[in-house]
Amino acid sequence: MNTKAAQDTRSEAQVAARLSNIRVVLINTTHPGNIGATARAMKVMGLQQLHLVTPKIFPDAEATAMASGADDLLQHAIVHDLLESALQGCSLVLGTSARLRSLSMPQMDVRKAAEIALAEHDAKDIAILFGRERYGLTNHEIQRCHQLVHIDTNPDYGSLNLAQAVQVIAYELRMAAISEAGVTVPPLDWEPVDAGQMERFYVHLEQTLLDISFLNPEQPKRLLMRLRRLFNRARPDQNEINILRGILAASQRAADKHEK
Ligand code: SAH
Repeated sequence: MNTKAAQDTRSEAQVAARLSNIRVVLINTTHPGNIGATARAMKVMGLQQLHLVTPKIFPDAEATAMASGADDLLQHAIVHDLLESALQGCSLVLGTSARLRSLSMPQMDVRKAAEIALAEHDAKDIAILFGRERYGLTNHEIQRCHQLVHIDTNPDYGSLNLAQAVQVIAYELRMAAISEAGVTVPPLDWEPVDAGQMERFYVHLEQTLLDISFLNPEQPKRLLMRLRRLFNRARPDQNEINILRGILAASQRAADKHEK
C-alpha cells in the first residue's frame, strides 16, 4: 500500500469509528426497496447500524436489490417489535420530520444536528428516527425525541423519499465526522442517561403527580407532553436524574403521610 492509500485508510477508519455509535432507525417502513436504499445510503457514508421497527416486509428481494452491495448492513440489521427496544442504550434521540408539528418541539437543521450528534458522549449510542412513507412519525414517537431535525426544502413540496432523507443526513454526519469542527466536549463528570431510564423517570413523574393531586387523571396528556418537552430539552445527566427521582420519592412519601 502506498503512503497516500495508507493515510486514506487510516482516516477512513477514524471516520468510521466516529460514526460507529449512530443508529439509523426506520419505523414501520412499507416499501422494502426503501430499506435497501437506506442501507446503501448509509454504507456509502460510513454508517453501519441499521435498526428496523416493525417493517411491513423484511427481509425481501427488493430490499437486497436496492441495497446494491450494502446487503451486509441488511444482514446485520436488527428488527424490533417496539421502538423502546430500538432505543435501548441510546443517550440522544433525534427525530426527522418533513413538516412542522402542532406542539412545537425544538427543531434544527441537518448540519446542526450532525454537529450535536458528533459532540455526544461516545459511551452510548445515538438514534436517528425516520418515519413511515405515508405519514412520518406519530406523536408518541416524537415524544421520545430530544430534538426534531428538518431537511430544508421547498415549502410547497417538502417531503423527501425516505432513503433520500437518510442520504442527506448521513452525508452531513460524515462531513461533521471528517471536520470535527465546532465539536464541544461535555464536562468530565457528565454521565449520559439512556432512553429506558428516561422512560422510567417519566412513569415515576406521572405517578407522583397523581399522588400529590397535581395531575388531573381525566386529562393527563397535555401536561405530560409539556413536561417531556422540558426534560428532553434540558437533557438531565445521571446525577440530575438521581436527584429528580429522589425528589419524586420524597414527594410521594410526604403525600402519603399527609393522607394518613
Ligand atoms: N407524509 C409524511 C412524509 C413522510 S416521508 C409526513 O408528512 O410526515 C418519510 C420520512 O422521510 C419522514 O418520516 C422523515 O423521517 C423523512 N423525511 C422526508 N422528508 C424530510 C424532510 N424534509 N426533513 C426531514 N426528514 C424528512
